[in-house]
Amino acid sequence: MDDCIFCKIVKREAPASIVYESDTVIAFKSIQPVSETHILIVPKDHVYSVTDFSDANQFFSLLTAAQSIIADLQLEKGYKLVFNGGKYQAVPHAHWHLLGGTLEDKKDVLNNI
Ligand code: 5GP
Ligand code: ZN
Repeated sequence: MDDCIFCKIVKREAPASIVYESDTVIAFKSIQPVSETHILIVPKDHVYSVTDFSDANQFFSLLTAAQSIIADLQLEKGYKLVFNGGKYQAVPHAHWHLLGGTLEDKKDVLNNI
């Protein structure tokens, strides 16, 4: 999609701090992190939302990316994986938030480990 910021990042038409890439997935740091580690795991093909996934391989490639990044960043002791949708989703290209380390929300359980 031409005017999609995440499609532009996939095509290297917009900058991003990329931490993982495969044939089908790209992952990069959120521009406005809500936690010490805040990575967005994104299918390279433009899929609007989690409700639009239909290809098991595409979804599994996101999981493979998450496993790889969790291991690389040694987040095994505490992480969250979150999909926002509908009114909670700002960017209209599906993405999985990987959060770790200290969160903005000081009462969050991740801050106690
Ligand atoms: P959503 O609310 O759609 O689930 O989250 C959108 C995420 O994308 C947020 O973490 C936001 O900071 C991030 N984001 C939005 N625009 C950009 C951008 O241009 N570059 C990067 N790296 N992250 C972005
Ligand atoms: Zn897109």
